[in-house]
Amino acid sequence: MNRKHAIITGASRGIGKAIAEKFAAAGYDLTITCHENTALLKDLSDRLEKDCGIRCRTFSLDLSLYDSVRELFDDIDRADVLINNAGISYIGLLQDMSPQDWSRVLNTNLSSAFYCSKLVIPLMLKNGSGKILNISSVWGEHGASMEAAYSASKGGLNALTKALARELAPSNIQVNAIACGMIDTDMNNCLNIEEKASIINEIPADRIGQPEEVASLALQICTGNKYLTGQIITLDGGWM
Ligand code: NDP
Repeated sequence: MNRKHAIITGASRGIGKAIAEKFAAAGYDLTITCHENTALLKDLSDRLEKDCGIRCRTFSLDLSLYDSVRELFDDIDRADVLINNAGISYIGLLQDMSPQDWSRVLNTNLSSAFYCSKLVIPLMLKNGSGKILNISSVWGEHGASMEAAYSASKGGLNALTKALARELAPSNIQVNAIACGMIDTDMNNCLNIEEKASIINEIPADRIGQPEEVASLALQICTGNKYLTGQIITLDGGWM
């Protein structure tokens, strides 16, 4: 059977894992990636193949390196959906940040989306359609103190989304982003209970978002309206 194929980066944990589960349940074959948590990724892949009857391939790679991303795409000959989800945070004063850490954040969060998009576009053109979805952050628009590099990477991702959407709309490829507020994943483990409570206090929905809520929206965007493109859709419980 010729099932649709979704590539989801950063799927070993958190939001990417929830997106993989959602797309598998919808019948997509998957290619899922992580950086170092290979065992977690393999467990997820085995479970999705068994429970959903789909084919799921796994790759561990550093998405901040173009040559590694090229190797990933060497093995892929069809792509209906690309979800650029993998990302890292960095919390600290900009004046104390090393140029190496700046590059690591920008390359992991932004250049990786360029690398994957560049390599997926020819496959989508061949297919005559495609969806690229970038997982961004509210900080990409609003900026967060102590997270300047992270905010810059997500602001860049938003601009990439809008520009690429215009470039690819004539080819029936839609490019959108979800700007997440605070979502309950390992990324926020650096916050203690008091810090989390004080953020929740600012969120009108009075809670942190769940990875499954991002995943539902991702599936909706990637299976829905073909006229929706170039949009940064905020999912933050009314926070910003
Ligand atoms: P997690 O920290 O839970 O998971 C991050 C994922 O990215 C893991 O699969 C990790 O792989 C992978 N990854 C990290 N670095 C690399 C790398 N260099 N190369 C390849 N893969 C890498 O994060 P979340 O699920 O919270 O975040 C997912 C996305 O959502 C990110 O882009 C993040 O910026 C965004 N986001 C998250 C928010 C939140 O509150 N959680 C809010 C706004 C946006 P491994 O397990 O091997 O390390």
